[in-house]
Amino acid sequence: MSAYELARSGMRTLLAEKLPFPRIKVCGGCIAPAGLHRLQAIGMITPECEWHGPALDTVRLVSRVGSIRLPIKPYQSVDRRLFDQHLVEKAVDLGVVFVQGARAVVMPNDHVRIEYEGSTFELRPGVVVVADGLGGSSLRERNEFQWHVSSHSPIGLGAIVQDQRAPRKTSEITMVIGAGGYVGFAPLNDDWVSIGSALPAQLVRQLGPAEAVARILRTARVQDDRIAQAMWKGVTQLTRHRRRIAHKRVLVVGDAAQYVEPLTGEGMSWAIQCASTIVPFAARVLNDVDVTRAWSVHCRRTLRSRGFICRAATRAVRSPGTFRIVANLAKQSTLPGIVSRRLCWCSK
Ligand SMILES: Cc1cc2nc3c(=O)[nH]c(=O)nc-3n(C[C@H](O)[C@H](O)[C@H](O)COP(=O)(O)OP(=O)(O)OC[C@H]3O[C@@H](n4cnc5c(N)ncnc54)[C@H](O)[C@@H]3O)c2cc1C
Repeated sequence: MSAYELARSGMRTLLAEKLPFPRIKVCGGCIAPAGLHRLQAIGMITPECEWHGPALDTVRLVSRVGSIRLPIKPYQSVDRRLFDQHLVEKAVDLGVVFVQGARAVVMPNDHVRIEYEGSTFELRPGVVVVADGLGGSSLRERNEFQWHVSSHSPIGLGAIVQDQRAPRKTSEITMVIGAGGYVGFAPLNDDWVSIGSALPAQLVRQLGPAEAVARILRTARVQDDRIAQAMWKGVTQLTRHRRRIAHKRVLVVGDAAQYVEPLTGEGMSWAIQCASTIVPFAARVLNDVDVTRAWSVHCRRTLRSRGFICRAATRAVRSPGTFRIVANLAKQSTLPGIVSRRLCWCSK
């Protein structure tokens, strides 16, 4: 997204990606309305895109105390392999040079070392946008960008499974909230289902990914035989932040800047929203203006209210007491439905 916007504004842009595309990304694959609107507004996606999964207008929350169905403003389900590939193709159409299998390292002098097919190249870009996610390694030589990782942080697991028994036209996200973690299921096209989970690292080390996810589900009284067949992929500890997300020529976006609780499915939209506003900051960097503080303030302001809502929603559904109250209210009134719709991130 950043590469697309920079190229659209006329800047010569190189996009270096460590893995060959399309690559697998641990993700529930549900884009919130705010991210969708932004992508549509700049023509990056259209309703005709064939890789779209169904629109999702209901979330079913399941815990050991019961289950609730709540309406939401429609999210879009996407297979991250195809969706991310599509974004890259759109950027390439605008002239972005995309190099896959190229690991980037930002050096202390803001030059970038590219490790590619056994050779090393040094580049001197006017501005460096770091969008290398939670597990990225490109800032490893820059102490000022160090992560602060919570010792209680869960890790992420994800898989895409085929399920011929799944109803073909479901528009429902299922979130199972178990002891210590949760597991989300979102339908993709045809018989495919995307599964994302946040759970304790210790549990995964002890039991392995499939059994650890099955354990979380069992604590919510759910059995699911798709879990054992899935090819699980993991991502590092999720709860973390960087004290600094910009310094001189380097601007950080997306997960590389800050983690957003995956329970509410907003990480992609947060990354999209910030990346889509990068051009004026990059232009100032090219004019030797120091935007270190301005970029941090801008990004944190964009996310502040969402961070609060995501944390509050996560705490509320994790607590069995609150869950029971919401479930009872949902049976008797339309209030929880109105609230759940309003809590969806819809800003354009
Ligand atoms: C379990 C789970 C479920 C989630 N569910 C949802 C959801 O339903 N909806 C939602 O909106 N969000 C969800 N998220 C969050 C979402 O996946 C992220 O917020 C989003 O992918 C962030 O995008 P990004 O571009 O910042 O990073 P990424 O998508 O992680 O992309 C970073 C890229 O950088 C590359 N890279 C890393 N290091 C280097 C290097 N040194 N040089 C070159 N390239 C490098 C990586 O290979 C990768 O391709 C979920 C996350 C988890 C863990």
